[in-house]
Amino acid sequence: MEMSQPVPELSVVVPLYNEEESLPQLVDQLLAAVRVLDLPFELVLVDDGSKDGTAKVLSALAATVPELVAVLLRRNYGQSAAMAAGFDASRGAVIVTLDGDLQNDPADIPLLLAELNQGYDLVSGWRHQRQDAAVQRLLPSRIANRLIARVTGVRLHDYGCSLKAYRREVVSDLNLYGELHRFLPALAFIEGARISEVKVNHHPRRFGQSKYGLDRTFRVLMDLLTVWFMKRFLTRPMHVFGLGGLAAMGLGLMVGLWLVGEKLLLGSDIGDRPLLLMALLSFLTGVQLFCFGLLAELQMRTYHESQGRPIYRVRATLRGNA
Ligand code: UDP
Ligand code: MG
Repeated sequence: MEMSQPVPELSVVVPLYNEEESLPQLVDQLLAAVRVLDLPFELVLVDDGSKDGTAKVLSALAATVPELVAVLLRRNYGQSAAMAAGFDASRGAVIVTLDGDLQNDPADIPLLLAELNQGYDLVSGWRHQRQDAAVQRLLPSRIANRLIARVTGVRLHDYGCSLKAYRREVVSDLNLYGELHRFLPALAFIEGARISEVKVNHHPRRFGQSKYGLDRTFRVLMDLLTVWFMKRFLTRPMHVFGLGGLAAMGLGLMVGLWLVGEKLLLGSDIGDRPLLLMALLSFLTGVQLFCFGLLAELQMRTYHESQGRPIYRVRATLRGNA
């Protein structure tokens, strides 16, 4: 019988889309970086429906590297989903993620783990000397980073860096939709995680090409809106929609009453007044917003109760020894 592997304490999760050329080197570098730590680990490499030979190379590697867990997705789902698949397949109490294109440096992993052990739940890499195109990548990313820091309240320099270390609880509390992997620190922060940052290496892409262009900036902004809403109003949507709805209804009602007053007291013709249109629109919009808020309240209850998602996260419960 084959000797069974010990349960891993560390899981390294890497999403791969058309990275056949970097894959062998990636595995070599990961093994070199992690073996010296002298703790049971696994490499969870996820093929995100690559069109090139990634799946084949990965399967071949899985046959020779005992610590390798290869997850082959049926089609291309995107980086967030690939990472989520990796998280689900992983078993370690600590999870490290990085990109599969060798832009992140596996040699930085021990640094992240050391910082995590200082009592953090999430440690994010900061590509302080980032090696990407200036105009298409660095500028939008700088603006996005500022904005994200501002909106989410998590003070990180670099949200786009995939090289991160997490405690498992942090990851299993989160669901990743869209391209929300970038917002993992923000989402974790909403759930009460302690977060830190360390400077890491960054290399230019050597093989293949980036899967993203300038259009990503736009999608990141949309995701940011979602995260902002979740942070502020997830458990009390009525506070946004209800307030907006009441204000719009009130405005519509007041303007409408004013017009009725003019009509009755002064006998003026109000049929073709722009104000009439405004009053109507405002009132109707208000009613809509208000109802929307009520529906959101129901939806929020379904969200939390159907999945047994508590509205709080406990770090520890300490009981006196009675
Ligand atoms: N990736 C993926 N699925 C996709 C797109 C990308 O798994 O649909 C992986 C890709 O193989 C890489 C990581 O996500 O390991 C980051 O992608 P990329 O290097 O293209 O992004 P960039 O570094 O340019 O931001
Ligand atoms: Mg890259």
